[in-house]
Amino acid sequence: MLKNEKAVVVFSGGQDSTTCLFWAKEQFAEVETVTFDYGQRHKYEIQCAAQIAEEQGVKQTVLDMSLLNQLAPNALTRSDMEIKEGDDGVPNTFVDGRNLLFLSFAAVLAKQVGARHLVTGVCETDFSGYPDCRDNFIKSLNVTLNLAMDYPFVIHTPLMWLDKADTWELADQMNALDYVRQNTLTCYNGIKGDGCGECPACQLRKAGLDKYLSRRTLQIKGGVQ
Ligand SMILES: [Zn+2]
Repeated sequence: MLKNEKAVVVFSGGQDSTTCLFWAKEQFAEVETVTFDYGQRHKYEIQCAAQIAEEQGVKQTVLDMSLLNQLAPNALTRSDMEIKEGDDGVPNTFVDGRNLLFLSFAAVLAKQVGARHLVTGVCETDFSGYPDCRDNFIKSLNVTLNLAMDYPFVIHTPLMWLDKADTWELADQMNALDYVRQNTLTCYNGIKGDGCGECPACQLRKAGLDKYLSRRTLQIKGGVQ
């Protein structure tokens, strides 16, 4: 049934949202993407997202969200700040309400382009202290958006309960593991693909990939399909 419908993917060009893009292309007749430009530390992130959107044949709308930097200067956007974990356990890459804002703008765009499905790569499993990545927040926002715009949005979170290894597995199931591995940018130091290997984002990504690849090898050896 969803095959006839249209979806908008919140798309940063990273591993998670690119996996979501592949997922959405399997689920929906028509898919487009929305990317938020909030003065990322690396402009290259936006370029990577644009290149993936082009290669995958999906429309990309880039929305200027530079006001986020004005509201909450942080390590993702300020090159003079180091990324580290704060006393409260929340990394200083956090911008309060970022997903709330992004999903709300994505919903406005989605309604304009006749899409009622929103897809986002938020996830509780590798929860790094972002309250607006939680499942109960997403469900609550879904109700709010439907009331706010009198429109039957459905927010899809295919990665919500997956860890990084499972996310690699999902990409592999869609024959997109190598593409995601080579073309996405997750690294805080702005290096595409396997990245710098040292920042927290690279370490998380590599640990998940190693875990998945060894699991896959065991499955092949064991003859498990
Ligand atoms: Zn890195």
